Amino acid sequence: MSKYVNVHTHLEQNENVISIMHVNAGDFSAESAHGFYSVGFHPWYIHESIWKDKMEKLKVEVKHPTVLAIGESGLDKVCETPFSLQLEVFVVMIELSESTKKPLIIHCVRAFQEIIELHKKFQPVQHWIIHGFNRNQNIASALLHQGIFLSFGADVMNSDSPVLEVLKNISSHEFFLESDTKDISMDELYLTVASIREEKVEAMKESLFNNFKNVFKYAGS
Ligand SMILES: [Zn+2]
Repeated sequence: MSKYVNVHTHLEQNENVISIMHVNAGDFSAESAHGFYSVGFHPWYIHESIWKDKMEKLKVEVKHPTVLAIGESGLDKVCETPFSLQLEVFVVMIELSESTKKPLIIHCVRAFQEIIELHKKFQPVQHWIIHGFNRNQNIASALLHQGIFLSFGADVMNSDSPVLEVLKNISSHEFFLESDTKDISMDELYLTVASIREEKVEAMKESLFNNFKNVFKYAGS
């Protein structure tokens, strides 16, 4: 049987869900690791003075077998961190994703064009996943055209959200679901999305589990 997959969360999840928990660079603890993680610099928490020191820690942390991905990292035009510094760090995260062969989970606010340009420039082998996608079909199509995955969260519960149209059109091979910082259950999220897509929840569960196996090279069952 396929399992629920929560591709991006900041909260502990129950054991019936395969989840990737976000940890900021420098904060990963191999001793208390149980489950799967992504480790990286969130654009909100990059500090000019210390990020290079933390980078040394990060290079060790990403080698741990429970760390399946780099991130969430990315670009955010409405946060305090200078955009040029965000870009500098994000490029290092792209390179780290490629050198460690671990996919990149991306936080993106109002910088989709930059993400697409970087994807064209670097042509990464590793998959990129835009987490918390809540924009319209045009932006979704441009990202999907590049082969970038989308991950959807609590916004699918909002009947005014532009993602509802995106969800109706997207192939089941191109997306993930996530709880992010919200305390929502995967049961509820999968049911909501399956009904928007007019798809059977079991079939969707199987597709998303296969996406997880393919993208994160997960060999378990
Ligand atoms: Zn997050």
